[in-house]
Amino acid sequence: MRVKTAHWVLVDCERNGHRQTRSLVSPMRCAARTMRITRNERHQSVFRVRTLALVFLAAIGVGTPAWAEQNPWGRVGDPAGGPARVVGFYSNGCIAGARAVPRIGPGYVVLRPQRNRFWGHPAMVRFVGDLARPYAKTGEVLLIADIGQPRGGPANGHASHQMGLDADIRLTIVPRARVTDAYRDNPPRISMLDSNRKALDARRFSDRQTTLIRAAARDPRVDRVFVNPVIKRALCRRTVANRGWLRKVVPWYGHDAHMHVRLRCPPGSPACVRQKTLPPGDGCGNRLARWFIKAPSKPRKIKRPRRAKPPLPRACGAVLRR
Ligand SMILES: [Zn+2]
Repeated sequence: MRVKTAHWVLVDCERNGHRQTRSLVSPMRCAARTMRITRNERHQSVFRVRTLALVFLAAIGVGTPAWAEQNPWGRVGDPAGGPARVVGFYSNGCIAGARAVPRIGPGYVVLRPQRNRFWGHPAMVRFVGDLARPYAKTGEVLLIADIGQPRGGPANGHASHQMGLDADIRLTIVPRARVTDAYRDNPPRISMLDSNRKALDARRFSDRQTTLIRAAARDPRVDRVFVNPVIKRALCRRTVANRGWLRKVVPWYGHDAHMHVRLRCPPGSPACVRQKTLPPGDGCGNRLARWFIKAPSKPRKIKRPRRAKPPLPRACGAVLRR
């Protein structure tokens, strides 16, 4: 996913890789908090200018500029060898032995291959193939957006996607013939929400999208699936029987054009840190309702020092240098 205004807000609100305590924070408050955070950062002015430049460049359709790729994890072009091994957490980790998701497969196309973010754990490669295969029969494709860099690690524009176990999959299902090279390299962003962003756009979100999200959530390899709260609410309302899969569908900021699928820690990776287990139930009650309540006014000026992001696990240094 490219950095855009909406995503910029999203990214800064999910610095902990979706682990952040969900409070009664509206997206706008989230944006305001983001501004406070960045103000405290050492290179504040440079950061803001660069962010604005990114937003501008994204808006006019220009790819990520070279200076944004100064992150060493973004510069490495190939995976570290050896068996697949995941280290750390989704928002603070890396992967050795990553495999490339083929750019075109039965029922799917990888978007923006020029970004080199189609690398993942072999379990992810298999998952994408399995999820997409049914669409090959209908002459359609799923659009696979960012997965991870060849060795994982921090990726500009994402809080997580660091271990090859996260994948962004567009919710738009398109005829294969429509995906030209130009479309693949610069795909339109199609939101499932209406112009008020308070309800689904029925022309874009149908039972087919429900089927796709349900198929992902039911897969035993999947730990959770992030979607926009409006989408989660619609799924809750539309699902009458067999609601168990709804538990894995987690509402989060953004995620209105794609779902973010997160796989569980795979076997053979003892250094992979599991994410906290989701609470029991379908997640359609109070936890979801909170997303639609106006945030109450907060007590003034309780300043808490921002916790520094922990360094990457030591083993990731070896993965990067290998
Ligand atoms: Zn994602």
